[in-house]
Amino acid sequence: MIRYALRCDTGHEFESWFQHSAAFDSQHKRKLVNCPVCNSTKVEKAVMAPRLNKKGRTAEPVAAATLPATPDVAAAAQAPSESVSLISAQERELRTKLKELRDYIVSKADNVGESFPTEARKMHYGDIKHRAIYGEASLDEARALIDEGISVAPLPVLPDDRN
Ligand SMILES: [Zn+2]
Repeated sequence: MIRYALRCDTGHEFESWFQHSAAFDSQHKRKLVNCPVCNSTKVEKAVMAPRLNKKGRTAEPVAAATLPATPDVAAAAQAPSESVSLISAQERELRTKLKELRDYIVSKADNVGESFPTEARKMHYGDIKHRAIYGEASLDEARALIDEGISVAPLPVLPDDRN
């Protein structure tokens, strides 16, 4: 199947599908190709509109001014990135800073492990003295603490930790 963008002698533009290009020529010669708007058989090929075939008949004229295909953009998206080394340099720096920050927290605060939510709550409600703590809390627990007005900050996770 081949699709042609066609234009009649009064300027109506429409699209039509043909088995092959020769089919268009022969149907055109026998005046079987006509404009869906004015029925004129004086039609000629217009610029092919790069669009997906819409289901159903093309009952109304279709403007040929659709978006042009952009093969260059698609090719560029598939091209390997040339800035890999730059990114990894920035990432290394970020990683170092994160590690420093985490080391600082770890050295200054008490690791209360999984009892972090309990400890944080006790401190907030004045049951125990305030001190810097860190530990583990699920997302739900952290959310609950925040809802109660307890300030919780996530400990920076280093990319290495995930490996
Ligand atoms: Zn027409």
